Amino acid sequence: MSDNTAIEFRDVSRVFSVKHENQSGEVRAVDNVSLQIKDGEFFSLLGPSGSGKTTSLRMIAGFDRPTSGQILLYGQNVSSLPPYARDVNTVFQDYALFPHMTVGENVAYGLMIKKVARAEREKRMDEMLDLVQLPGFAGRKPLQLSGGQRQRVALARALINHPKVLLLDEPLGALDLKLRQQMQVELKSIQQRVGITFIFVTHDQEEALTMSDRIAVFNQGKIEQVGTPAEIYEHPQTPFVAGFVGVSNLVTGPVAKRITNSDRTFSIRPEKIHLAASSAEIDGDMYAADGRVRDVIYLGLYTRYLVELDGGGDLVVVEQNLKTTSMDVMKVKSQNVRLFWKKEHARYVGG
Ligand code: ADP
Ligand code: MG
Repeated sequence: MSDNTAIEFRDVSRVFSVKHENQSGEVRAVDNVSLQIKDGEFFSLLGPSGSGKTTSLRMIAGFDRPTSGQILLYGQNVSSLPPYARDVNTVFQDYALFPHMTVGENVAYGLMIKKVARAEREKRMDEMLDLVQLPGFAGRKPLQLSGGQRQRVALARALINHPKVLLLDEPLGALDLKLRQQMQVELKSIQQRVGITFIFVTHDQEEALTMSDRIAVFNQGKIEQVGTPAEIYEHPQTPFVAGFVGVSNLVTGPVAKRITNSDRTFSIRPEKIHLAASSAEIDGDMYAADGRVRDVIYLGLYTRYLVELDGGGDLVVVEQNLKTTSMDVMKVKSQNVRLFWKKEHARYVGG
């Protein structure tokens, strides 16, 4: 471990026992994860719902404990320390402000608990409200604020104690898109100003790519890849990362109907689609679609193809470069191809 490591996971697992009807089983929410996060990093845990992000965050905060393995904060094994004994604060999606207290009282709450003198409390509370661009809001009640303003208050409250690490669990999830994009920029700039390590949980790849210094991509309790946004995006190391970070195919209307005989909208992940010659015979348990390769992006381990379907619509396809070279894959450009994928991999969305 290097000197500037803020957080380290050493072979951390969290297994839940679950009872379902008469059966009992276990869920490996976090499955043997090792990870190092540097001091001062904006680090994102990115992955689909249920991939173990929140459980990982809760174990850093101390709300939950590993079943096995260790978590170190600045070199100290904190695996069995309670939350209040860790120099860490959390901002949740649902704000969790005290409704009966004013904004100022909410923000200064952590200092009141620590019995910091009133004058000092007010000074720091004002500084925090300036930081989150809510000067003059101290006297309001949370109910008199918009969602975005409440989230800023929650942030000010979490930062007032100058924790070494701030944990954020999908903090922008409840905001509409425009406000969310604005808050992404602001959060990042606040993090740079205070210089605290931020660990940010999101299922939104675009959000993670925009804000992070580094990203860990989670899938089914495991980390598939850790890297900078550019590394993750341009050099995905697994099919899952290649498919999850990037475009997801959504097929609607007449195009969907031609493929599935139903006009229900479905999504199909790029790594589940296979490319074949245009005359290839396709098994009955597969869906097939014909088209023309419009673009080929060679990514080293993987290649991303953009295929224009006959009759309209595009599909992105990701294939592993097992035997192919960049020369081979480039030859596919402009060719007619047949795409196919297992029927079960088409996910119906909405309706
Ligand atoms: P994420 O935040 O990535 O959506 P979670 O960490 O919340 O995922 O959950 C990971 C997995 O662990 C899921 O399958 C979830 O159902 C399961 N899980 C989380 N908390 C519990 C719990 N208290 N009891 C049983 N299973 C849980
Ligand atoms: Mg979660």
